[in-house]
Amino acid sequence: MSEFDLIRRHFTRATPGALLGVGDDAALLQVREGFVLAVSSDMLVAGTHFFPDADPYLLGHKTLAVNLSDLAAMGAIPRWATLAISLPQADDIWLERFSAGFFALADQHGLELVGGDTTRGPLNLCVTIFGEAEANQALRRSGAKVGDEVWVSGCLGDAALALAHLQGRVALSDSEYNLCAPSLHQPQPRVALGRALRGIANSAIDVSDGLLGDLAHILTASGVGAEIEFVRLPVSATLRGYPELISTCALSGGDDYELCFTVPAALHDALQSLGAQLACIGRIVAGSGCLVLDAEGSSIHLKGAAYDHFR
Ligand code: ADP
Ligand code: MG
Repeated sequence: MSEFDLIRRHFTRATPGALLGVGDDAALLQVREGFVLAVSSDMLVAGTHFFPDADPYLLGHKTLAVNLSDLAAMGAIPRWATLAISLPQADDIWLERFSAGFFALADQHGLELVGGDTTRGPLNLCVTIFGEAEANQALRRSGAKVGDEVWVSGCLGDAALALAHLQGRVALSDSEYNLCAPSLHQPQPRVALGRALRGIANSAIDVSDGLLGDLAHILTASGVGAEIEFVRLPVSATLRGYPELISTCALSGGDDYELCFTVPAALHDALQSLGAQLACIGRIVAGSGCLVLDAEGSSIHLKGAAYDHFR
């Protein structure tokens, strides 16, 4: 199979939302009146971000999901993506499954694949995603204000718990693993929530490297501090079964792809009516850094921070 057959067979689809999609030297894209482009790239490297023998369908899903999560955190509407892919060999069955997983999630979000690059090399997947955002309503990291509440969507730590099991650091039962594995392999980007938070949240980030590390990005960008209450962290029943792992998985574990955001306290009730599974976990305070408080209000000392590739 030639490079061009591969692209035609596995990555070429109709792209009615683009002026020009796959097949020329560049795609041609037009954002709608009133919008600006929101652009983000995320790379997944075999052995670093996923096991080399990972299920290709789930890998296709996750490759796009991590990028959709970045647009969700901006409150943007996903429109297009490019896919740069380096493959050890042209394995038709693997590519069929990978593209099926990728396009199934793309279709859920009305996203079109409009280009990319395909080379031979170690397995490496890089998506650049393009969305539409209202310039003055995009959610940024830099808008948190003293007095805001800190909120998070979904549950934290299940993906890290599933990974700990795969790495032999904990032994989950089959049913426990089956409950938390989807968080690791098939994260659901919170795109609708990101849109709903426009005009409500003062700041937002997606939680990809652990809550504490990602919240720290909001705090630094906004010049504020935070206090988080440990007992308010949204944690699944499965993770509650391993109390000694809650803090590492829910606070420093990676791959949650939930949104963490701050909201004026006066909007507390409005948020609860958003209907999504949202938890208020603390507040923004003057100063810098994040304190995690126990039930008595004393600060808990935590070892380890967020995942950092170069630390
Ligand atoms: P060029 O050599 O001009 O960079 P390529 O030969 O690499 O173009 O790619 C041919 C066309 O196929 C381009 O439109 C490119 O965007 C698209 N393409 C290449 N790889 C992929 C891929 N993995 N997924 C989607 N489109 C791709
Ligand atoms: Mg090329």
